[in-house]
Amino acid sequence: MASKPIIVSCALTGAATDRRQCPVLPYTPAEIADEAKRAYDAGATIVHIHAREDDGKPSWRLPIFQAIKEEVRKRCPVLLNFSTGGIGNTIVERTEQVEHATPEIAALNMGSMNYAIYSSTKKKFLMEAIFENPFKDIITALTRMQKAGVMPEMECFDAGHISNADPLIDMGLLKAPFHFSLVMGVTGGIAATPKHLKFMSEILPPGSTWQVIGISREQWMLCDEALKLGGNIRVGLEDNFYLPDGKTMAKGNGELVEHAVKLVERHGHRAATLEETRRLMGVH
Ligand SMILES: [Zn+2]
Repeated sequence: MASKPIIVSCALTGAATDRRQCPVLPYTPAEIADEAKRAYDAGATIVHIHAREDDGKPSWRLPIFQAIKEEVRKRCPVLLNFSTGGIGNTIVERTEQVEHATPEIAALNMGSMNYAIYSSTKKKFLMEAIFENPFKDIITALTRMQKAGVMPEMECFDAGHISNADPLIDMGLLKAPFHFSLVMGVTGGIAATPKHLKFMSEILPPGSTWQVIGISREQWMLCDEALKLGGNIRVGLEDNFYLPDGKTMAKGNGELVEHAVKLVERHGHRAATLEETRRLMGVH
């Protein structure tokens, strides 16, 4: 197979974890921007971002997203992908930043599901919630993205979420190019196995680009499988704290991206440049 550009994305901080679990997790706009720069310098061309208050609590406040954008732009030209997914806030609250802090890309969650953390040692659920993304909310988010010229990145936590794009395409709300993220390993969503990844990659609308988002230690195995199947990859502290050995906690997002780029090169490919990423994503 000829060498091709692979987009390496980095999810810098997320919203579900804190510094008790990983001391290098960035919270403030300046800390998030420093991590964005480290990820960019290591070869990532897209950074996926959740906002947090200075004490680390998840936040949807617009001034924080605006400050993050400003701080990142002072440091590097990496493409910004803002989250719109969460539990407990309305879709209007979760998409203010799409319209008023205009990242290049925003995550669009494609379906509802149970969202849980299960402990097999304790034999119980440590957290469980309903991740609500009804069609009316998907359409609200999508409409706001289009109005602001923001490219949707469709996050699919299960195979059925991929088919949820069909009515949106049929109504003319969703237009090519289509970008899918196949999120694997959340309890309540699809299991993190090569077989499930292959299946999901095979049922995407023709001409779609896609990346795998593996949650926890399965991430590196899934990145390896995605590269075999022609997909792009995402790493970062939101999804997984550990290096490919599964034991060593990363010193930061830059270190995770360095390993991702090495993996891309082991497959005979190279990390996409910023210009290649813009072209592949249809982002101007
Ligand atoms: Zn996220």
